[in-house]
Amino acid sequence: MLQSVKNIFKPFVPEPYRADIKIFFKRFQHFGSVFYCPVCKSNVSHLQELGYDFPVNREKQIIGGGPRKAMCPVCGSSDRERLLYLFLEQKTNLFYQKTKLLHLAPERNLKRIISKKKNIDYLTADLNPVNVMEPMDITQINYPDNTFDAILCNHVLEHIPDDQKAMKELFRVLKPGGWAILQVPISGVLKETFEDFSVTSHEEREKVFGQKDHVRIYGKDYSERLTSAGFNVTEFHWESDPGFGGEEENKDILYKEEMVYFCGK
Ligand SMILES: [Zn+2]
Repeated sequence: MLQSVKNIFKPFVPEPYRADIKIFFKRFQHFGSVFYCPVCKSNVSHLQELGYDFPVNREKQIIGGGPRKAMCPVCGSSDRERLLYLFLEQKTNLFYQKTKLLHLAPERNLKRIISKKKNIDYLTADLNPVNVMEPMDITQINYPDNTFDAILCNHVLEHIPDDQKAMKELFRVLKPGGWAILQVPISGVLKETFEDFSVTSHEEREKVFGQKDHVRIYGKDYSERLTSAGFNVTEFHWESDPGFGGEEENKDILYKEEMVYFCGK
């Protein structure tokens, strides 16, 4: 019954607002005072399980990759999506300055929030063009140099064999003075990035990299890789910024060791 009512209204309610309605109802279902999700502005009683439970993710202490209780039961945001949202809100002028933004493999909640901002000239893209505005191969971006004021491309580079080429392409299409946020899962213990292109099957990749479609595990040298593509990288440690995230309960829903790699041109 409920499903048929939903289907009747579907064509009349544009996408970002459909999700708002879902969030409105889920807020009652999961209400509690244990956590606060800054993305959907909900007080929730619990967080849900996410991530891949392969031994390598524990062994290599993959930040933003292993199994953990970190998903908001209301909006479905993960710890990394919440960090990104708070960073964009508090450390950039994206939400109020006129910005031409390229968002690759867009996070669902961020896309919903950004697509409603009138100041943002928004382009979403993905290699697999489902729920995005256009297809895009980031090793070969079909846009001229210096096109975008800002780029968001998170948890994409670990899937791409020639990540240097992708980083250079992202740098090329970014305007001078622009910025990009290029988050990846990173090992908390590896000094150097580990890659092995002889590992090709899904089963082997799960065992070696912790996910069936990953081609490497980034180490602490990730910033250097970005720098060698041309970026000016600032590593933002949210825990060292006492004002970040606002209230204390906001911070329980972030991953402790996760940094934001803020890349300037
Ligand atoms: Zn939420």
